[in-house]
Amino acid sequence: MRTAAIRFSCLALAAGAVLAVQAQPANRGAAPAQPDYSKVEIKTTQVAPNFYTLDGQGGTIGILVGPDGVFQVDAQFAPLSEKIATAIRAVSNGRFRFLVNTHVHGDHTGGDENFAKLGATILARTELRERLAQAAGATPAGLPMVTYDGPVTLHMNGETIELIPIPHAHTDGDTLVHFVNADVLMTGDYYRSLGYPNIDRANGGSLDGMLRGLARTIAMAGPNTKIIPGHGAMVDRNAVAAQRDMMLVIRDRVAKLIQQGKTQEEVLAAKVTADYDSKVTGVGTTGDRFIGQLYAELKTPK
Ligand SMILES: [Zn+2]
Repeated sequence: MRTAAIRFSCLALAAGAVLAVQAQPANRGAAPAQPDYSKVEIKTTQVAPNFYTLDGQGGTIGILVGPDGVFQVDAQFAPLSEKIATAIRAVSNGRFRFLVNTHVHGDHTGGDENFAKLGATILARTELRERLAQAAGATPAGLPMVTYDGPVTLHMNGETIELIPIPHAHTDGDTLVHFVNADVLMTGDYYRSLGYPNIDRANGGSLDGMLRGLARTIAMAGPNTKIIPGHGAMVDRNAVAAQRDMMLVIRDRVAKLIQQGKTQEEVLAAKVTADYDSKVTGVGTTGDRFIGQLYAELKTPK
């Protein structure tokens, strides 16, 4: 088990719950009840000739398959590993070779140890490994074996895979994964098409890092590039640009209220996301968590 502090921030939105600002682990008591994993079904979607996504509970998984074996992006929760492995075997030769984590949260890393035992070498940013290693109950077998601070390129199954660090965005260990030939970008959670953006400041995330990550993604994407977020449906670059624009608008509204001396409660009461609430998908989602994160970041002098 990872610590609640690491686990819950993705999980909450996945379950459609609304969380208050969670800058400190002290809020761990607000974590929602564990979902019943036995009821979760893994849905496999073919996105390119040798590339699939797998959705169950937690962050979307991506897999590149072929004669060289499986390259996997993220792992969801540990109790789902068996189901996920079965789904992967159904569309591959079942040779688990590599698994990269887009970021530290438990709905993306929980199954790491299980896939390592199946043969996958786990890759992650240095910061991510450090956070996992510090988490309660961490076991060496579940930790990334390969860490990196700069871009990494892998060559498998006729594909070029680029691992691109996105510093201090959703967390301090984010990676953008680019499948060049398949024309796929996997962003992890610095971009999500479900719910409002989530800046996990307690795990080293920042607004500016999120904005830089989105800008990088938009710049790398062509009109047909398939952008697969950590949570929510696959999108194109226009959707990512729209989210960046929304973040800038909301940022400026919050900054203005801070300049006027408003408290966080007053900023929340001002409903600065109201005109976006109907467009942002996700059951029970409001902008309050995001506003709280912006308030905390903008209130703090840089
Ligand atoms: Zn996350």
